[in-house]
Amino acid sequence: MLTGKCSCGAARLTLADLPVYRMFCHCDTCREAYRTPNYSDFVIVKTSDIKVETSEAIRFKAARRRFALQQGHCSACGDLVISHLTHLPGVKVSNVPTKLLEFAEDRIIPLQHIHYHRRIGDVADDLPKVSGGLRSNIACLRPYLRVALGR
Ligand SMILES: [Zn+2]
Ligand SMILES: [Zn+2]
Repeated sequence: MLTGKCSCGAARLTLADLPVYRMFCHCDTCREAYRTPNYSDFVIVKTSDIKVETSEAIRFKAARRRFALQQGHCSACGDLVISHLTHLPGVKVSNVPTKLLEFAEDRIIPLQHIHYHRRIGDVADDLPKVSGGLRSNIACLRPYLRVALGR
């Protein structure tokens, strides 16, 4: 079991297991939601494996320009806590910011950078860097399906 909380501690969640997939996304929607100057860092979790401990502290709204993404922010500090993806029918997966989770940054090896064409600056690491909106979405498909199907 893995616990996560926002920076003020009002929004808390628990994951059944350590997530397998972690990614960095350079899109504008992420920059805004994660309040980061460069790119987001998140893990993919089957929605049913997430237990929200303080649902009253989380406010959901559709992401700007991406209505299939329901983003939950802490109503006290504004941190993004969870994003539910709703664009794949029958696939119930969510993203959780990696920094929310205890020790996750050290324990989960990132898979890739996506939407790299939107980057603010180049990143010097050995991870695959996927550019293009469609290519990025395709690169995410397999991880999302594997998580949703529990493999
Ligand atoms: Zn993004
Ligand atoms: Zn908070």
